Amino acid sequence: LVVLGIETSCDDTAAAVVRSSGDILSQVVSSQADLLVRYGGVAPKMAEEAHSQVIDQVVQEALNQANVSETDLSAVAVTIGPGLSLCLRVGVQKARKTAGSFNLPIIGVHHMEAHALVARLVERELQFPFMALLISGGHNLLILAQGLGQYIQLGTSIDDAIGEAYDKTAKWLGLDMRRSGGPAIEELAQEGDAESIKFSIPMKQHKDCNFSYAGLKTQVRLAIESKNIQDRRSRADIAASFQRVAVLHLEERCQRAIQWALKIEPSIKHLVVSGGVASNQYVRARLDQVVKKNSLQLVCPPPSLCTDNGVMVAWTGIEHFRMGRFDPPPPAVESEDFVYDLRPRWPLGEEYAEGRSEAR
Ligand code: ATP
Ligand code: FE
Repeated sequence: LVVLGIETSCDDTAAAVVRSSGDILSQVVSSQADLLVRYGGVAPKMAEEAHSQVIDQVVQEALNQANVSETDLSAVAVTIGPGLSLCLRVGVQKARKTAGSFNLPIIGVHHMEAHALVARLVERELQFPFMALLISGGHNLLILAQGLGQYIQLGTSIDDAIGEAYDKTAKWLGLDMRRSGGPAIEELAQEGDAESIKFSIPMKQHKDCNFSYAGLKTQVRLAIESKNIQDRRSRADIAASFQRVAVLHLEERCQRAIQWALKIEPSIKHLVVSGGVASNQYVRARLDQVVKKNSLQLVCPPPSLCTDNGVMVAWTGIEHFRMGRFDPPPPAVESEDFVYDLRPRWPLGEEYAEGRSEAR
């Protein structure tokens, strides 16, 4: 199988061609970093236009790099949610056009499932069931993956995701936002004293596996407003102190989630950590400690597969295709008023109902 994957759910336009053997034949990402700098965040209309401008080029480049033509493809996979509907639509339109004109089946992919499953491309030994911590700009999820398409949600954020907290901290510190805030904070934090400011760990009194980053964000903003941050050292202290507590919250939740998950599936051996924030080396090192303490193994894809990419979409498409889950080729010429199947809000799996009683 050779599958083309297309991803446009947020601010990156990405495409890739992947073989079912796990060979990545191409990987192309066009990011909207310049727009992020200008508008200080993702503005849906701007993002949609940016996707529209580059989507044809990105897909063509992915096919060229892979040295395949549309006729060599087995199927087209595309992210249909969750994400910004204006943006998702651009990718889905392109996928349907490509699939339609070459009579290829199409596979609608869940963006967060793709963040998790790409770990199975990286680590071929990774079997179900496994646990996953998915940490990105819009999501903070702890899941138990029991099988393909079978997920139990052990925890989620009740407000912001950790990536959002990294991005805002970077913005308030006035860091270079030409890339996203996460890498800027990670780099600056290395020079700071992580114990210098005592931010409190979120949700200490809640004995569940949910997350909250809104309160920490506020603590950081107040600290920045009340301090002189002219010199690099004081900015580094804030970055390091923020990062330490942001990650302590992850560690604490993971520790508990592992106990919950082992009760449901005692054979679990792996914790996958993926999503943009998983490209952070400090995050990886700290979570590796937690995982080792529980005699489990950490599986963390390389940074280019942690942040948004087309490979994870193509791979997730392959996994579903192999199980016979795909849609037949769309009509070659689509009517103008075609309604696309987009799922801007799309939970990944069922909430772990026993979680509430566990938390008592
Ligand atoms: P979602 O997956 O929730 O829809 P998204 O697709 O926008 O969100 P990803 O590309 O998966 O996000 O992740 C982007 C986020 O990852 C941003 O918030 C960014 O700051 C963060 N990030 C990227 N690299 C790092 C890093 N080295 N350290 C911390 N955070 C990082
Ligand atoms: Fe993402």
